Parts: sequence; C-alpha cells; structure tokens
Amino acid sequence: MAYSGSAEAPSFDSSSLIDLRSDTVTRPTSAMRAAMAAAEVGDDIYGEDPTINRLEARAAEIFGREAAVFVPSGTMGNQIALRLHTRPNQEIICESRAHILDWEMAMAATFSGCLIRAVASPAGYLTWEQIAPVVHAKGSTFSAATGLIELENTANLAGGIVIPLPVMEEVLHEAHKRNLPVHLDGARIFNAATTLGGDIFENVRTLTRSFDTVMFCLSKGLCAPVGSMLVGSKDAIDEARVYRKALGGAMRQAGVLAAAGLIALEEMTLRLHEDHANAKLLAESLAKLPEVQIDPATVETNIVIFNLNNRSAAEVTSGLKARGVLAGATGPKSVRLVTHHDVDRNACLRAAEILGEVLEDAAVAARS
Ligand SMILES: *Cc1c(COP(=O)(O)O)cnc(C)c1O
Repeated sequence: MAYSGSAEAPSFDSSSLIDLRSDTVTRPTSAMRAAMAAAEVGDDIYGEDPTINRLEARAAEIFGREAAVFVPSGTMGNQIALRLHTRPNQEIICESRAHILDWEMAMAATFSGCLIRAVASPAGYLTWEQIAPVVHAKGSTFSAATGLIELENTANLAGGIVIPLPVMEEVLHEAHKRNLPVHLDGARIFNAATTLGGDIFENVRTLTRSFDTVMFCLSKGLCAPVGSMLVGSKDAIDEARVYRKALGGAMRQAGVLAAAGLIALEEMTLRLHEDHANAKLLAESLAKLPEVQIDPATVETNIVIFNLNNRSAAEVTSGLKARGVLAGATGPKSVRLVTHHDVDRNACLRAAEILGEVLEDAAVAARS
C-alpha cells in the first residue's frame, strides 16, 4: 500500500484479509494492468480516445443498443438517466431499498428536481400490480406526475435476487403503454444474466431489451478499477454526454480505464458463476449456525444477507474484523457478505468458520 520511499508502514496487510464487504473491493487483474499500460489513448472529450470508443461501441453491441457512454461511477450513470427521462416536479417510482434512494445522496432531488416514490416490496422487486396504484400518468393540481419507473437487477439490498423476466416485461409493457420510460439499474446485470445459463451476452440482451436506458458497472465483480456504462438510444446517449460533462464526469485520456473495462466486459463476465457457487456454499455453511437465519435457497447470485437471532450486526462485524474477515452491517441485526474474484472457495469456507467462532465467543460472553 505504501509507495516506495515512504517511511510509513501500511495501515494493514490487505492480502491476509478476507474482504467480503463488497465486490467493489476487487483489484484490477494482471491482464488488466498490462492492457492499461499498453492502452492507446486520446482526448475523450474530443471523442478521440480510441480505447474509450472501442469500449463504448462494444457495450452498445453487447446490449443490442445504438450507443453507450463511459461514466466514472454507477451513481453518475443512474443520476444521468434519471435526469434524461424526467422533468423537475415529477416522481420516480422505485423499490424502497433501491440504490438510487438509499446510496446516491439526495441527487434525484438536487440534480433532477424529482421526488422518489418508494414502494416497499418484501420480495425486493416491484410488480406492475404494486406500481400501478402510485402511477400518476398526468399529475393534477394536487399531485406530481410520474416521470420514470426504475428497477434494479440484481436487487442489491434484497440479497442480490434476480427479477423474474415476466415480471419485468409486464412492468415495461404497462409503463410504455402509458408513455412512461423505465430505467434499469443493472449494476450487476451480468450476475443476473449468469443465472439464466447459456450465452451470457444473449441473456443480457434478453434481460434488458425493453428498458429505455441501462446502467451497468465494470468496477464491481468484473474487477475494473473504475467505471460504469450507460446504454440506450443514440439521442439519449448524446444527451447523457452533456449531463456527464455538467457533473464533471467527462474525462480526457481515460482509455487507460477503458482498457481494463474491455477485459471486464469480455472476460470477467464469463466467471461470475464461480462467485455465485461460493456465495451458495457460504450460505449453506452459515445456515448450520444456530444464531444465524438464512435460507440458502434464496441466494441466487453473489450476495448473502443473513439475520442474527440475538447478537447485533455491529458486534458481529467487529468480531469478524478482529479475526481478519470484513463484512458489512445492513441493519441492526443483518449482515451482508459479497463474494467476488479476489476471495476464493477456501477463503469463503474459512470466513464461515470464523463467523462460527465469533458467535460462539459472543454466546460464552453473554452467559458469563
Ligand atoms: C454499486 C451500485 C451502484 C453504484 O455504483 P458506484 O460505482 O459505486 O457509484 C448502483 N446501483 C447498485 C445496485 C449498486 O450496487
């Protein structure tokens, strides 16, 4: 961690940690670093970075769309999309645990001038039946019009679940009948596509074909150091470039990042099933612990969220941390573990074992 010449010792040795806080912690692979070093670059604001141009063209091709734009983060990609589809004083409908609501500051309000109309769904995703009652196609002197519907696939805080295709298709069909656009937060759309089996790129096209815009991340389980993409029609993406510039997200010789992004897209998408198998294994091991509530059958992708019976999430995550396992609390009694490229099968098994020790120690302490 410390650069050569620094007298400071690194704050911790990250190589010995089992970091399951998020798939964002993945580091660029050696193939990525080599591609980054060799990347052809130019000024992307002039449209002259050949590697960025290649990444954008390839993303558009994979998603079967006219255009794509590279953005520094998934948050920026989502917020540009919200702005594209709405006017101030409108509402954006999403599920109550959506990333755009809980993890992107109040940007829907400050950047797009819109209110988020959150609808809670125990399943973690919204059906048309749940959306329909809160849709105001026109607005009135009392209530704001709906400007956009937003779905998230996989649904992160619902445990990485995959929205069933017929559910999404019904939402898209009904929304479009009313001229309502629908944006997909597909931060982990390649994880969703992996669960369908077969050709992942074909699956991604199937899962996203009717959305007006789709955002996906290169910098999560796909290991790129930086970057997300927004895909859609040429008109939408041309306008997205204006908002990206306004947000300070237009970059210059960013082909060094796109070089890693191309490997993320072409190669790292093909190995996500390994993360899913490790998540399942982790869930099965955790299910054996009496203090833990988890149904391994609900773990569909790379996210494992479990509840604790008596212990608090803060107590458990700090106990884990003291033994070299990093996890995140997602509620007073819920903990999230995310599997990814940099944590292998053995590390996942070891993490489950360590959790067992932490819970055992806590039970002993509680009795004494
Ligand atoms: C991580 C994430 C994002 C945002 O990505 P950043 O690059 O961290 O801004 C958006 N949506 C979901 C569901 C995510 O998990």
